Amino acid sequence: AALDAIEKREAQVHSFVTVDREGALKRAKEVQAKINAGELTGPLAGVPVAIKDNMCTKGLLTTCSSKILYNFVPTYTAEAVLNLEKAGAVILGKTNMDEFAMGSTTETSAYGVTKNPWNTGHVPGGSSGGSCAAVAAEECSYALGSDTGGSIRQPSSFCGVTGIKPTYGTVSRYGLIAYGSSLDQIGPIAKDVTDCATILEAIASHDVKDSTSVQREDYDFTTALVDDVRGMKIGIPRDYFGDGLDPEVKAAVLGAAKKLEEKGAIVEEFDLSLVEYAIPAYYVIACAEASSNLARFDGVKYGYRTEQYDGLHNMYKKTRSEGFGAEAKRRIMLGSFVLSSGYYDAYYLKALRTKALIKQAFDKAFEKYDVILGPAAPTTAPKLGESLSDPLKMYLGDIYTISVNLAGLPGITLPCGTDQSGLPIGLQLIGDCFAEKKIIRAAYAYE
Ligand code: GLN
Repeated sequence: AALDAIEKREAQVHSFVTVDREGALKRAKEVQAKINAGELTGPLAGVPVAIKDNMCTKGLLTTCSSKILYNFVPTYTAEAVLNLEKAGAVILGKTNMDEFAMGSTTETSAYGVTKNPWNTGHVPGGSSGGSCAAVAAEECSYALGSDTGGSIRQPSSFCGVTGIKPTYGTVSRYGLIAYGSSLDQIGPIAKDVTDCATILEAIASHDVKDSTSVQREDYDFTTALVDDVRGMKIGIPRDYFGDGLDPEVKAAVLGAAKKLEEKGAIVEEFDLSLVEYAIPAYYVIACAEASSNLARFDGVKYGYRTEQYDGLHNMYKKTRSEGFGAEAKRRIMLGSFVLSSGYYDAYYLKALRTKALIKQAFDKAFEKYDVILGPAAPTTAPKLGESLSDPLKMYLGDIYTISVNLAGLPGITLPCGTDQSGLPIGLQLIGDCFAEKKIIRAAYAYE
């Protein structure tokens, strides 16, 4: 049924870079046999999933939506995907994304744009736009995305689906092609909070292959699916509701807060300082890490190599000039600049200090509140083509999501209404480190 839906809807939506029809059917039969034999039980056995194209899948093309990886077939599978396979998942294919997860609209993909299933004149958000559109268009039951600065939460908001960015270190990054290594986390994208909690429970694990992976005691996220928020303290940062926030988004998000209050939560406004510094700090750190991570794509080890060249240096230069798109190049240049001697202290070090202060501001807030509530994005999904011409404006749209990555916190986005034109609006709930259960509980009660 999922493959039929893909066949029917891909022409309009284009969620996938690769659909593995044969592989999925073969795997479905194998899983079915195991289920019949009683070897596979559990909620995810036999359920079809779509995987963002920056997670390695053994034997299946993995492009990061970049020309530079147009022919890269990994020899191993990402740990999070392996965990799903152990639970009996059936992989349908790989979803479209912004090139190397750099972007907020899925328009920087080298393989065409993905469209918002609610209105195909609009973007699905990004960078996990393909994963979110695939869930919204019912081409799969759920999907995996990755979130470096909002790439699960913002497109979930634009596509009217639910997504979780877990606490940094909760889901292994082994096999996730790195963008900003200190910020990247894999997480679930699904139709509701119950599905997201179930998937997170399956993909989260301690993994010695990822040195930043954390051993946790509490992987039983589904135990937080209780419809009760009485006494829960919810903080609303005033700074999140000022200039630049669309009035319809504001009204829907505050309406959600009201509903949680009616259900017994204690809702209060507070000042979360340093909000205006999150975007500059994030773009310095993310680009610095990206410039280093993308150095490995040189035409030697994997992927694209230019056809004609004169010596090794010329080969590197031509391969990278032809293989990377404009946004990836912009970030490699910005990152190399802020890391270069003479500028390192002024930009990179200062950004790291700002990151530490942002974390402290959240620590202070979580002394008082269980959950922080706000929008996921300042607007609903923009029209196709609007953001590409103005990258700075696109960066500013990340205002509500990126500080969560800088502080390593968990966040969930779920639908809380639509605007006048019928496009979905997302509510974001942010928790303290390792407090996924609190945000899941609040989200479940709201839903
Ligand atoms: N929009 C942000 C960026 O372009 C976040 C992307 C992400 O989370 N991967 O960097």
